[in-house]
Amino acid sequence: MSTTATDRAGSPVREMHNHIGGRWVAATGAGGLEVLNPADGAALATVPLSSAADVDAAVAAARAALPQWSRRPVIERARLLFRLRQLVEERLEDFAELLTRDTGKALLDARLEMMRALETIECACAIPQTMQGRALGQIANGVDCETFRQPVGVCAAITPFNFPAMLTMWFLPFAIGCGNTLVLKPSEQTPLVPELIFELLEQLELPPGVVNLVHGGEAAVNALLDAPGVDAVSFVGSAATAAYVYERAAATGKRVQAFGGAKNYMVVMPDAVADKVAANIVASAFGGAGQRCMAGSVILAVDGAWEQIREPLVAAADRLRVGDGMQAGTDLGPVVSQDARARVTDMIEIGVDEGASLALDGRGPVADPNGAFVGPTVLENVSAQMLVAREEIFGPVLSVIPVASLDEAIALVNASRYGNGTSIFTESGAVVRRYREEVEVGMIGVNIGVAAPVAFFPFGGWKSSFLGDVGACGTDAIDFFTRKKTVTSRWFSGGQTGKYFVES
Ligand code: NAD
Repeated sequence: MSTTATDRAGSPVREMHNHIGGRWVAATGAGGLEVLNPADGAALATVPLSSAADVDAAVAAARAALPQWSRRPVIERARLLFRLRQLVEERLEDFAELLTRDTGKALLDARLEMMRALETIECACAIPQTMQGRALGQIANGVDCETFRQPVGVCAAITPFNFPAMLTMWFLPFAIGCGNTLVLKPSEQTPLVPELIFELLEQLELPPGVVNLVHGGEAAVNALLDAPGVDAVSFVGSAATAAYVYERAAATGKRVQAFGGAKNYMVVMPDAVADKVAANIVASAFGGAGQRCMAGSVILAVDGAWEQIREPLVAAADRLRVGDGMQAGTDLGPVVSQDARARVTDMIEIGVDEGASLALDGRGPVADPNGAFVGPTVLENVSAQMLVAREEIFGPVLSVIPVASLDEAIALVNASRYGNGTSIFTESGAVVRRYREEVEVGMIGVNIGVAAPVAFFPFGGWKSSFLGDVGACGTDAIDFFTRKKTVTSRWFSGGQTGKYFVES
């Protein structure tokens, strides 16, 4: 583990620990990484790169806790989730500030993330209702049939850097609410908020091993994917890692859901309300510095629609204030790291080289050169073959492709290897209906720039944006974190007679 990391004052930064079997423990892995504030490059902590042995210890603790926890009455598990919700709400502002320091996102975006996190816990609190099975009496003479839901077992959740609070809550409350035990492996880039969540979880006095936190990167993920003691894996991250995780976890017979990357197209019809569209698209493309899997990334402007929205949109984007997310009035914080900044600016360069023109260039000078800032960027005259039109940039870059018709727009959306989110802006119900029917995308916004996850509805993309059968949130979360058991029964002593329908 690195011992040389220092903060801006030159003092050593603290080393983070794993939380295994109810205790904070030092990792045994080789080395660690500095966790940096992307707004100024200051070191906030050192995160360990845990070894397979650390992961195995966490899985063993989760396994040991499972029999007792899965038999705990469901109403008691729900009460603990209510308490978790209360603890998170009491620390909402602390969470938001920590999110801003760790991810760079503006404080307003951080507060919104915390609301989404809170809503998923609230949804999981309904577990005594939502975990119910189904029953039907008298399916034959004197015979009843019931389906029960039971926990899957030991679950692993592996999360990305961009929503460390919300995405932890996509999995943790539903998993333990359904009676599973959990090992969380958060992003090594933004591990501070998951750590605070575990500090609060300690106050619930859960039995040791019900929830476990293992920091790290690739080695820790591989150990989770290979561990025979893990029954189910939830993953969120880039498309390439999602495909890798899906395959490797499935190879050992685990249940897997792998949420991957995205390229989200926004179709603008000529009848759309121009000023509202401009405001919505600016929020979609540049909110969270474009580091959202649901960020709108490409405008497909139908039949002259770009000319109608160009001026208000570019002006609104240009007005966004870029800076440290902690400062009042900041609209756009930095991207997560200098590496991410280099990747985003390289993509802008590639777009220009391929023939796009810059309606707005966000690569100008920045207040703090230690910060990973990129301003809002708008590329116009983009064509569908260009890299910026096809691949995820994950930064504040918006591309504009003019198209002749709705047919052409739908064909372009459906030609993408991704299918996470899309939006359509129009006042025509008939156009919306056709788009909704034909587009191969999991989440659709109608006059809404970001069709963001709603805690009480299922969330998930199509194609390379999601590998698996059951998504996150709503009823899908219950389906993923339970397995069904169907019991067909009769009672001779009850005087029931008649033949069971499968008996000859
Ligand atoms: P990432 O794939 O780099 O990392 C995600 C997780 O996988 C991290 O915990 C990381 O430690 C681990 N990991 C990374 N490389 C690995 C490897 N080679 N082997 C094993 N594990 C590995 O993703 P990121 O950069 O942290 O997050 C951004 C990506 O996440 C974007 O592509 C974004 O679209 C996607 N995302 C998708 C959704 C969704 O719901 N579809 C939601 C949020 C983010």
